[in-house]
Amino acid sequence: MTLTSQTSLNKFLRNQLETVYERIDQAAARVGKQRKDITVIAVTKSEPTQLIRDLIDLGVSDFGENRHQEAALKMSELIDLDLRMHFIGQLQSKKAKQVRAYAHTIHSVDRLSLVRELSSNESVIEVFVQINLTNNPQRGGVSFEHLEPLVENILESPGLKLRGVMAVAPLGGDPKESFQQVVYTSERVQKIYSEASAISLGMSADFEQAIEYGATHLRLGRIITGQNA
Ligand SMILES: *Cc1c(COP(=O)(O)O)cnc(C)c1O
Repeated sequence: MTLTSQTSLNKFLRNQLETVYERIDQAAARVGKQRKDITVIAVTKSEPTQLIRDLIDLGVSDFGENRHQEAALKMSELIDLDLRMHFIGQLQSKKAKQVRAYAHTIHSVDRLSLVRELSSNESVIEVFVQINLTNNPQRGGVSFEHLEPLVENILESPGLKLRGVMAVAPLGGDPKESFQQVVYTSERVQKIYSEASAISLGMSADFEQAIEYGATHLRLGRIITGQNA
């Protein structure tokens, strides 16, 4: 990439970020919050490692990836830099330990076998319980009836710090009903463990509404990178 196109890319990214931050400021203000109360995770799946470097230059510190191989490769190329990697995709139990080695947070904990693989006596990793808002078990996430046992299992397992709940709104339709379910689920989790108050919710298409429903972690891809937006 030539110097000029790199410079214009940075300008583009800076503009994208400014626009997103402004929209977050406004949505947060509507619920009496500030942007600093909300963690913006830049989702960089299928984007080159250089994009992560550029975003770090622009002050972004949290990144999201959903595939282990891709995330591991990028992290090996970014070893000199200070960033937090959030794993947001479905996670096979046999890959869990490898993901744990480079991830700061795993947003997709949805079953006991995964908790077993992720627990450790050596280090602590932050986790979210992913809840399934659809009737389709393929979509990932724990079903409502299995929520409490999973939460209790996480709390009993060494090396896991439970932050809260994570969800992906089903495609199509109004996300509000789904978001309301997430709020109820978060309350159920906090009854067991009051510190687990974080809510990882909100993507490019619905982050402002997610903020109104209490999202503390936004996972934003296309609206930052400009891909297919
Ligand atoms: C890709 C992805 C996102 C980001 O989606 P955008 O619509 O690009 O903002 C967020 N969460 C998960 C789980 C994803 O896989």
